[in-house]
Amino acid sequence: MFRTHTCGELTLADQGREVVLSGWIQRSRDLGGMTFIDLRDRYGLTQLAFNMDTNASLCEKARKLGREFVIKATGIVRERESKNKNLTTGDIEILVTAFTILNDAKTPPFTIEDATDGGDDLRMKFRYLDIRRNPVRNNLMLRHKMAQQTRAYLDAQQFTEVETPVLIKSTPEGARDFVVPSRMNPGEFYALPQSPQTFKQLLMVAGLDRYYQIVKCFRDEDLRADRQPEFTQIDCEMSFVEQEDILQMFEGLVKHLFKNVKGIDIPGLPRITYADAMKFYGSDKPDTRFDMKFVELNEVVKGKNFKVFDDAELVVAICAKGCATYTRKQLDELTDFVKRPQIGATGLVYARVNDDGSIKSSVDKFYDEAALMQWANACNAQPGDLILVLAGNKDKTRKAMNELRLEMGSRLGLRNKDVYSCLWVVDFPLLEFNEDEGRYFAMHHPFTAPKPEDVDLLNDFNTLGQVRANAYDMVINGVEVGGGSVRIYNKHLQARMFEVLGFSAEEAQHQFGFLMDAFQYGAPPHAGIAFGFDRLCSLFGGVDSIRDFIAFPKNNSGRDTMIDAPATIDEKQLKELGIALKA
Ligand code: ASP
Repeated sequence: MFRTHTCGELTLADQGREVVLSGWIQRSRDLGGMTFIDLRDRYGLTQLAFNMDTNASLCEKARKLGREFVIKATGIVRERESKNKNLTTGDIEILVTAFTILNDAKTPPFTIEDATDGGDDLRMKFRYLDIRRNPVRNNLMLRHKMAQQTRAYLDAQQFTEVETPVLIKSTPEGARDFVVPSRMNPGEFYALPQSPQTFKQLLMVAGLDRYYQIVKCFRDEDLRADRQPEFTQIDCEMSFVEQEDILQMFEGLVKHLFKNVKGIDIPGLPRITYADAMKFYGSDKPDTRFDMKFVELNEVVKGKNFKVFDDAELVVAICAKGCATYTRKQLDELTDFVKRPQIGATGLVYARVNDDGSIKSSVDKFYDEAALMQWANACNAQPGDLILVLAGNKDKTRKAMNELRLEMGSRLGLRNKDVYSCLWVVDFPLLEFNEDEGRYFAMHHPFTAPKPEDVDLLNDFNTLGQVRANAYDMVINGVEVGGGSVRIYNKHLQARMFEVLGFSAEEAQHQFGFLMDAFQYGAPPHAGIAFGFDRLCSLFGGVDSIRDFIAFPKNNSGRDTMIDAPATIDEKQLKELGIALKA
């Protein structure tokens, strides 16, 4: 028998019992007459005590044990002299009477404790040691809980979990596919799914009514800070539903998760249109933990000979509460911030509303106090507030102001990770014009249905950009956690959509013929959504990086440094696949 108990469960109530524990040695301390060892397993840490006076040979043996040795120890539970309030087992220790070494261990490359000295790369290379640490293991356990609760909720709502294939044909989510050569079909390739999109729609044609799957998806994208080439979605689809049904059902899912995983009751999710999200936050994923909405000042500022404002398509302000005391240096920092190339503003105008109600701006030359008072009124600025203004091309200025708003939110401590603000963004545009390629792309994907009232706009190239979709995103704390749409289920409308997207009838048939064919056999109205599961877990865990919630993640170059993948394959494999590499 390896153990009678785990290292996380013994308390004073067990005093006097003989127990057997197994685990890893986290630390040992020699204090003259006594040696103490912290023994760790998944469940916790228990202190083992060895007494030089009463059992010198055992104590000597214990002193030779190294970090991460795996041992089995037998002993008696007794009350500790100096208690540790932070440990469940902190009141007791085990006076060891015998132990065996189950395995020795090389000295680990970093300390396996909550605060480690290991850098990111090292921790990834030895991820199996990293996972021994509480913070990482707790993240995986949170992920497990999230998955269990997701299944519990969806199962109770009559969803059926169905696995869809991984070796498929290209799915159009807008990224590059990972491809897999087929040995049995030389010259042909499978693609790994960017999502199970077409399959879940086929399952609706198949009459399954409610489908979900916690599923791996693959996208060969350049890895921006926090993306992974393989990631996990909670993927869902429902039949005979409208947008409203989906919003209700999945608002229910996040409420269930907050309640059952974090013990938090969240209020109903407010909804905002894409157009309003852009107008008031400059982003389709606004962080609504704080207000600081955009105020458009065009009407108020024009015609005072300030060329920058007069020539601007948009002049937009935010009001930072209580920031009138910002120093020259702080304001210069903000100016530098908005002028960074990634943000791209040409300058920043500010106006301070002083405590006595007077207003001082960086453009006093053009705007007298009465004019500035109009700004203050528009922004609802009170004495003590700071008004920050950007101007220029509408889209670019909104984008820059979004960054500035988030920066101010962070500076003012308004983006607390323990506070959650969830909302739906609805009515996304159906299509997005790509300047480089000179054509429209589907903003979500080609199966997304236009709003019925906008369908006619699809017939004229000039109005394509105005077509709104029955598409929605769920946003939590400025992060898009999920998105989906009502689907096209009419083969003629789907054909028109492919046409608008620049597919010839043959190309559409070649790529998606199977779906168009299926739609000829009675497709029900259907709609769905997918959540980024890794991201959702990281939000619930209050950590920025999704990597921390993936057992074996890849680095920014898409490498798994632990198993050293991707890797070359040998000549024989290449030959079987009929693949010749360029020298
Ligand atoms: N397949 C979509 C995605 O991965 C989600 C959906 O439309 O259900 O974004």
